[in-house]
Amino acid sequence: MKIASIINGAERIDASAETMEVRNPYSGALVAEMHLAGEKEMEEAIENSLQTFHTTMKTMPAHERADILLRASELLEEKKEEFAEIIAVEAGKPIKHSRAEIMRSIQILRFSSELSKHTAGEVVPMDAALRGDNRMGMVKRVPMGVIGAITPFNFPLNLSLHKIAPAIAAGNTVIFKPAEKTPVSAYMLAKLLKDAGLPDGALNLVLSTGVTAGTTLVPHKDVPKITFTGSLTVGKIIRDTAGFKKVTMELGSNSPNIVFEDADIEDAVDRLVNAAFGYSGQVCVSAQRIYVQEGIYDEFLKKYIEATNQLNIGDPMEEETDFGPMIDENAAKRIQEWVEEARDQGATIETGGERKGTMMYPTIITNVKKDMKVVKEEAFAPIVTVLPFNTEEEAVENTNDSIYGLQAGVFTKDISRAYRVADSLEMGGVWINDSSVYRQDNYPYGGVKLSGLGREGVKYAMDEMTEMKFIGVRL
Ligand code: NAD
Repeated sequence: MKIASIINGAERIDASAETMEVRNPYSGALVAEMHLAGEKEMEEAIENSLQTFHTTMKTMPAHERADILLRASELLEEKKEEFAEIIAVEAGKPIKHSRAEIMRSIQILRFSSELSKHTAGEVVPMDAALRGDNRMGMVKRVPMGVIGAITPFNFPLNLSLHKIAPAIAAGNTVIFKPAEKTPVSAYMLAKLLKDAGLPDGALNLVLSTGVTAGTTLVPHKDVPKITFTGSLTVGKIIRDTAGFKKVTMELGSNSPNIVFEDADIEDAVDRLVNAAFGYSGQVCVSAQRIYVQEGIYDEFLKKYIEATNQLNIGDPMEEETDFGPMIDENAAKRIQEWVEEARDQGATIETGGERKGTMMYPTIITNVKKDMKVVKEEAFAPIVTVLPFNTEEEAVENTNDSIYGLQAGVFTKDISRAYRVADSLEMGGVWINDSSVYRQDNYPYGGVKLSGLGREGVKYAMDEMTEMKFIGVRL
């Protein structure tokens, strides 16, 4: 399979273009060959997106945008197995988790379709101000123009749609730059949106390297907004080169979860196994630090190790597989080195710790210190640390001791403590009696500290992809 950028509705297969192979992280089999776009194609795509914004999207009525997005959700429903299979082979995500990603993606399209009809503004009570008598004032929400959307490999469809669908719902055009590891689902998505009736040029897919996007798309004068999901390292580069334009940043974390003595231990164990090892921990809100109150620490750890050892490890395409490979061997090698470093510094590897090619086995680490990499840096891998604590204050202090603040989980039956702790945590989101990894697509999602800037979740992304325009009338 050969894939290429799609600009103004036309596929840009260029025999002389540089190519990149997309390989199945589990088997190593070739999935696709991608024709890489260069700066010239990126420039062309931006020019076309700007033109399409002015000629088509800016004036397209909301009911038409809603119909296109609804039709796209129906088409995705029809093709859900095809999309799930491609995510399983290009990203190495177990098929059951790939299917769950598709179901969430369908919902994003539906929410976007519904909300495209509700970009309401407000009427300002002008006479509340001195000299405001006989004046009317209203605020409209207007699209921004060309949105640059740069996405990561780990939820290639869901996270791309978190940018593309709200952007279209609000009447913008989009330059879509997906991750190099997972361009096939992106290519299929661009085609699906075209089939759903999205005009050519409203979504231009540019399959380039990150560097091309960084030098051409990010600083471009005709792109007023960049929405990025990815690592802190790249986020910092983008922030530095974006200048005055608006940026949304969905970055990483070393997500904490706190289990108090009164929690339902079996339930916490069950949810935290998935939270730490789902998609091999390659999730921005993956559980990396689990703080367990001393009275239940031994019991929790024993049950947690047992439950982790029950995971079905293997081929992502097998129905029973819970746990598959990492995205590539370098990622697996890096995390194995971190685990070895922690062991050398006195940590105990309770289970896992081994690696075979791209497969890093589910790893639980105890006796850790807060300065170890496995605790303080984003692991983005199937490793988790379990740490004891004594008091509520200590749990809150340890949890907040991080440069990140994306999402946390708190397990307790004490409602007062639940709210107290939720209020004390420096996080974009806190789940009570669920883990840090749980996410729905309709609430404000994003981080504080170095976990990001701005929020996604369809309504909130639309707010960030529109400008408020005030119109006043002297009667
Ligand atoms: P990454 O930062 O390596 O790449 C993300 C995207 O940025 C890719 O499309 C890449 O090509 C592009 N890129 C690379 N260099 C660039 C540059 N100089 N300028 C512009 N674009 C550039 O991230 P990844 O490995 O694909 O994803 C993993 C990271 O994403 C983790 O840190 C994870 O926590 C984070 N993430 C965050 C969220 C969230 O919602 N907060 C969700 C998923 C993943």
